[in-house]
Amino acid sequence: MARKTRNKVSKSTRKKTFTQKICRFCADKVSSIIFYDIKSLKPLISERGKIIPSRISGNCAKHQRAVTTAIKRARCIALLPFSEAH
Ligand SMILES: [Zn+2]
Repeated sequence: MARKTRNKVSKSTRKKTFTQKICRFCADKVSSIIFYDIKSLKPLISERGKIIPSRISGNCAKHQRAVTTAIKRARCIALLPFSEAH
């Protein structure tokens, strides 16, 4: 009986298509991110309440840092969840 061979992924199919993402705050020219402005923060947290990393959201380092502190502040006054609701 022939042994099953694993499907090898060829290098051509593994090739990543990199698209440059634009920081949404840089595009809107937002100077400061306000923590009680949930409308702009809500899309930056996942369904489980985690902060979406900049490599996925496309935020620049400066704005990602501001978003992180804003989300953490919003969590403290219960505007955003720490984890998913039970
Ligand atoms: Zn930015």
